Amino acid sequence: MARRRQIYEGKAKILYEGPEPGTLIQYFKDDATAFNAQKKGTISGKGVLNNRISEHIFTMLGAIGVPTHFIRRLNMREQLIRQVEIVPIEVVIRNVAAGSISKRLGIEEGTQLPRTIIEYYYKDDALGDPMVSDEHIACFGWASQDEMHDIADMAIRVNDFLTGLFAGVGIKLIDFKLEFGRLWENDFSRVILADEISPDGCRLWDSQTNEKLDKDRFRRDLGGEVEAYQEVARRLGLMPEGENAVLDMETHRRKRGR
Ligand code: UDP
Repeated sequence: MARRRQIYEGKAKILYEGPEPGTLIQYFKDDATAFNAQKKGTISGKGVLNNRISEHIFTMLGAIGVPTHFIRRLNMREQLIRQVEIVPIEVVIRNVAAGSISKRLGIEEGTQLPRTIIEYYYKDDALGDPMVSDEHIACFGWASQDEMHDIADMAIRVNDFLTGLFAGVGIKLIDFKLEFGRLWENDFSRVILADEISPDGCRLWDSQTNEKLDKDRFRRDLGGEVEAYQEVARRLGLMPEGENAVLDMETHRRKRGR
């Protein structure tokens, strides 16, 4: 294939110029980072799994009327997406306390929150993605009031949908991160869901055992990262049954002698 022009390289993905104006190709790498890229590693096979899981979720969100940048998956590691102007805000939705909220506010991990919380973080690696409020977002013009209204609306819809989807396959959706982008049509823009939804940006716990099926396995050196991501894909019905690539969590535990 002819060499494509690389538009951007992030921590877990590369964006290439797409085949038509207004499109990009999103390539999923196996690279993993945590703690603002202070911890780096490779999870062999992660990119393939995240591409497939994110395709599945974005397709379903599209079907319930959430606008997304996803057009179609092209191959094992790539998907065709609409080019958007990324809103520089990471939107975190929390149902159960874990990670930074537990640390910051001293709430035990696993505590069910009395209501869903939406938090915003300003996307700036040099600053370590600081948490910001609606006031900061409006003050510095990172997104308009209308855009923030649409973003919060979509975030809640995605949360409701994903909570049910995962509950149906025995997984608790603890928290997750979303990113949005502006899609320009002439002089007008609207915000649509962008980036990816995968175990890299979600906390997913087994409903019965609370076993972590997400990137916390990497962040916390628990091991079994790829098996956990495979387990999520398998439960969502995305792994061909009986494939020898499927190493389930049981096998992983046996291998580690636990
Ligand atoms: N998250 C993410 N990218 C980030 C920060 C957070 O995808 O740069 C996700 C993370 O996977 C978790 C949720 O957002 O599902 C909340 O993360 P938290 O604020 O607890 O931060 P962390 O403990 O990951 O540092």
